[in-house]
Amino acid sequence: MGRRGFTTRQVHERAPGATPTARATPIYLTAGFEFDDYDDAAAPFGRGEGFAYTRVGNPTIEAAEHTLAALEGGSQALLLASGQAATTVALLALVEAGGHIVSSTHIYEGTRGLLRDNIARLGVQATFVDAIDDVDAWEEAIRPETRALFAESISNATNRLLDIPAVAAVARRHGIPLVIDNTFATPYLLRPIELGADIVVHSASKFLAGHGSVLGGAIVDSGRFDAARSGALFPHLVAPGRGPGGAPAPSIAERAGGDARIAYARESVALRFGPTPSPLNAFLIAQGIETLSLRVERQSANALAVAQWLKTRPEVASVDYVGLDSHPDHALALRDLPDGFGSVFTFTLHGGAQAARRFVEALGVFTHMTHLGDVRSLILHPASTSHALLTEQERAALGVAPGTLRVSIGIEDAADLIADLDGAAAAVGARVGAGDELVIVA
Ligand SMILES: *Cc1c(COP(=O)(O)O)cnc(C)c1O
Repeated sequence: MGRRGFTTRQVHERAPGATPTARATPIYLTAGFEFDDYDDAAAPFGRGEGFAYTRVGNPTIEAAEHTLAALEGGSQALLLASGQAATTVALLALVEAGGHIVSSTHIYEGTRGLLRDNIARLGVQATFVDAIDDVDAWEEAIRPETRALFAESISNATNRLLDIPAVAAVARRHGIPLVIDNTFATPYLLRPIELGADIVVHSASKFLAGHGSVLGGAIVDSGRFDAARSGALFPHLVAPGRGPGGAPAPSIAERAGGDARIAYARESVALRFGPTPSPLNAFLIAQGIETLSLRVERQSANALAVAQWLKTRPEVASVDYVGLDSHPDHALALRDLPDGFGSVFTFTLHGGAQAARRFVEALGVFTHMTHLGDVRSLILHPASTSHALLTEQERAALGVAPGTLRVSIGIEDAADLIADLDGAAAAVGARVGAGDELVIVA
């Protein structure tokens, strides 16, 4: 055969496939995979084996999923394009129109909006529990059509800690899963599945990646779906499947057993709605995870030092850090967080929004941005950013006052962080008045 044309060579000439064993996970940055032979093509479609198309499966993404499942003590994980995608896919794999979700009030604003606005438009109602330490409040909110309980392990913004074993017991009694957003704690500090939760979701954009360069999300399932106990509540998991040529096939529960929920999330919800992560981002998240424990250990130690320091300052009205014995959930933290209390928390300045502005503008080491879990220390004024659309009353109920600032403490030297905060406190021009009011010195 003669030499092929330039354009044909341009797209087809490549070295024959060599498969050396790379120590780092190779980045399979490819939309799809060649079928080895004609018969091979059917396998990914019929039996879900092998790789065909990256939305269905990709080795780099699978490698990150494998690590995440192992670290959370779960059975399987599913990596998605963002934390929002993870929460959405996890919930859509459980509920259908007419269904109901019971959620903690104390959650990420994006999740609250998802439940209140978006999932509501699909005909799924949500009830919010304010007093998350009141197990009876969770029990009372459950209806016959409830299909999930949802909460954060350590909450945004006031660092509330959920008593996971207690709420998991309620969920189990009703045959419905407890879904925990474990973003703030990370599996290094807390593993919800080991405490009785059924499903964990993450924003992998935060601590898991740690470098603040990509977005990602993950679902980890316990693998404990019990079709005999809960099949009637989740008919889509136990209904007969569809095989080649429309022939009847086993249900997802018959095929995947205890992994039915995550199999459905992977094969149906994520596949059809399509929030697939880039294999490049999967690689970067997996790289981040390799140093998770070291970062979180250091961040937690730094956060405790910063919180203790803030507590001593006259400009600071309150510090909501679960590692301080003044926090209402500190006893629970001593039980469930033996390796550190996390590194994202809020504190409130006397002097309201004006003091908050001066404080943020005077910082030099802290970065002013809306993100968390980064190696760098970050600061945000929730009342004018993440919580800006709420009324003052709604914000107050969530612990967000005009003078509240949220910090995510990084891995820097603690002395530099405290010196930076010290300078900012001085810039507020503090003079505490007789009535606990901060008098701003012009
Ligand atoms: C950031 C965050 C999310 C959303 O994750 P994205 O990756 O930004 O989509 C969800 N839950 C918590 C607790 C978060 O901090």
